[in-house]
Amino acid sequence: MTSSVADFHKLKQRLRLSGQIVTRTGLRIGSGGSGELDGADLPVLRDAQGYPFIPGASLKGSLRSTIEALVRGAELPRDTGLWACDPLLESYEGGACGHHAPGKRGEVDPEQHCAVCRLFGSRIVASHVRFSDALMRLPESDVIGRVPVEVRDGVAIDRDLRTVYGGQKYDFEVVSPGTCFDLEVFIENPKDWLMGLLIMGFDQIRDGFTALGGFTSRGLGRVDIVWSGAIEVSARDLLEGKPEKRLPSGDLEPRFSTFREALAARTQRRA
Ligand SMILES: [Zn+2]
Repeated sequence: MTSSVADFHKLKQRLRLSGQIVTRTGLRIGSGGSGELDGADLPVLRDAQGYPFIPGASLKGSLRSTIEALVRGAELPRDTGLWACDPLLESYEGGACGHHAPGKRGEVDPEQHCAVCRLFGSRIVASHVRFSDALMRLPESDVIGRVPVEVRDGVAIDRDLRTVYGGQKYDFEVVSPGTCFDLEVFIENPKDWLMGLLIMGFDQIRDGFTALGGFTSRGLGRVDIVWSGAIEVSARDLLEGKPEKRLPSGDLEPRFSTFREALAARTQRRA
């Protein structure tokens, strides 16, 4: 029931960031099933070719919770827009912004929504950001198509697993360190300060504060993020048949600085 997508009636501009995710430790994104061909108790998620991949939804979830924690921890005044709602609260007044203001059904003012919902979407505002599944980049020399997955064993002493494995020994698969995945992020109508938040979320992942996937308390899921370029398109340029604007990796950092500055300025904003 996405009845209103106020921010989205117009597609003014689109930005596509590309880069790579490189695993620094083992990475565990489980397939949720067991008893597959490879025999490990807890296999990793694989694509149709049998290579591991990182689902876009998983990346989006990690970014969202990282940015949510940052914004909550900063405790800035609400009129900066830099706040995060509690999606479990069911009323608009109670601080959840995924709801229409009382008596104003159908009207959505993005300014009334928290930064996290404005970036990642809620029940009534569309997401500005979309993540492709990060597919494994095949090394050119790797003619035999080695799958960089290793089996590790553990004893099910983890609290969360105790009920399932009852202290038995079990195997789990991880993606090997040094594996490369292609990262693609699509942003529609990007606002500089929200882009600043998004980039900061990626920085947190790169700096090791946020880990991806499962078993992160065992040190798994640390990755590096390497940006390689961006493509920028405006609706006007598209219709006028102008070529898309390519930003090489060297132009990215200055651009990211602009985003970070816009975010910093936003923290000072008063209504
Ligand atoms: Zn919200």
